[in-house]
Amino acid sequence: MAAIPYTSGMLSMNAQPETDTTEPGTHDRVVTALRQLLGERLSTSAAVREQHGRDESFHRAHPPDAVAFAKSTEEVAQVVRICATHRCPLIPYGTGTSLEGHVAALHGGICIDVTGMNEVLEVNAEDLDCRVQPGVTRKQLNTYLRDTGLFFPIDPGADASLGGMTATRASGTNAVRYGTMRENVLGLTVVTADGRIIQTGGRARKSAAGYDLTRLFVGSEGTLGVITAIRLRLYGIPQAMSAAVCSFETLEGAVNTVISTIQSGIPVARIELLDEVQMDAVNRYSKLDYPVQPTLFFEFHGSESGVAEQAQAVGGLAGEYGGSGFKWTCAQEERNHLWQARHDAFYAAMALRPGCKG
Ligand SMILES: Cc1cc2nc3c(=O)[nH]c(=O)nc-3n(C[C@H](O)[C@H](O)[C@H](O)COP(=O)(O)OP(=O)(O)OC[C@H]3O[C@@H](n4cnc5c(N)ncnc54)[C@H](O)[C@@H]3O)c2cc1C
Repeated sequence: MAAIPYTSGMLSMNAQPETDTTEPGTHDRVVTALRQLLGERLSTSAAVREQHGRDESFHRAHPPDAVAFAKSTEEVAQVVRICATHRCPLIPYGTGTSLEGHVAALHGGICIDVTGMNEVLEVNAEDLDCRVQPGVTRKQLNTYLRDTGLFFPIDPGADASLGGMTATRASGTNAVRYGTMRENVLGLTVVTADGRIIQTGGRARKSAAGYDLTRLFVGSEGTLGVITAIRLRLYGIPQAMSAAVCSFETLEGAVNTVISTIQSGIPVARIELLDEVQMDAVNRYSKLDYPVQPTLFFEFHGSESGVAEQAQAVGGLAGEYGGSGFKWTCAQEERNHLWQARHDAFYAAMALRPGCKG
């Protein structure tokens, strides 16, 4: 691959130069060229630019000069080539739920929104993999998979796009058992900063061929290319799932329970720690009435006897470290309620101080 000049390609916030080196009027020329390519799918409206210049964090909006709504890999490549020719910053955009100002257009330029590329391209149930366009969200994929007996486990609190989740190397509550996006992306289609379309990785589980470019792009936050398709690992939905909650007198007791659980090799699917302040926030926001104490949320996956065994083993360990009221349940409604409360923890924390941002 040829070296890519620093200012010619994808520049998300972290990679933007200290000063804007683009020639005056450059961005206008790019907007004109993109208008010819995309027609009404290029927006310069203030509201659309503002929406694409901010994420869920406290950072104020830095709107791009225009937002390009791409529909295909080839179209993304054309947009990238136009921006590269004019050395104009380009920022990919998924659902804008990131938390570190990722999508802020500090030096203007073009935001490329791929939410319109939202098809599940293939599902290989026997091989436990699928291929999706970047605008497919994690919930959309799981709804699509519902009748196959398979699921995709990575679940950041937000219903983020799989392109954005790949670009931020997202994780979630299932990370302890299923890993993060790093372990679950098998391959990518990427438009690199000079507009070339490349494929990385593949379906073979055992392969040492070539550079591991997939890992380079996973977590690159839009700085190396626009991801236009993602091959993901899938898992069979476990026969049984149970959830448990346990309160502790001390934070140390909760932490020691986690350490012992992992060291004992108990294959917990989810394990999350909330301190007493967060529990108070979650109780108020999600209308729960758990003790306002350091608390662990657990989930166990396996056979019916397996999940009962895991829950009992963890309950025993928790008791040794001052855990009380260890309650576990297989009831789906209760499990969903518990994990929805966890996914809303960010908003619950913000609600403690109205008007604040995360
Ligand atoms: C309530 C809440 C809870 C969260 N919980 C967790 C959590 O538990 N664990 C965790 O890891 N994260 C968590 N997050 C953050 C979450 O991971 C990100 O919000 C998500 O991964 C970003 O996806 P997105 O589609 O919104 O991307 P965006 O916010 O649109 O973009 C994020 C970055 O990815 C780049 N990008 C987007 N799409 C592409 C693409 N197709 N190609 C190349 N680059 C692209 C953008 O340029 C930007 O740099 C949480 C967020 C919220 C709001």
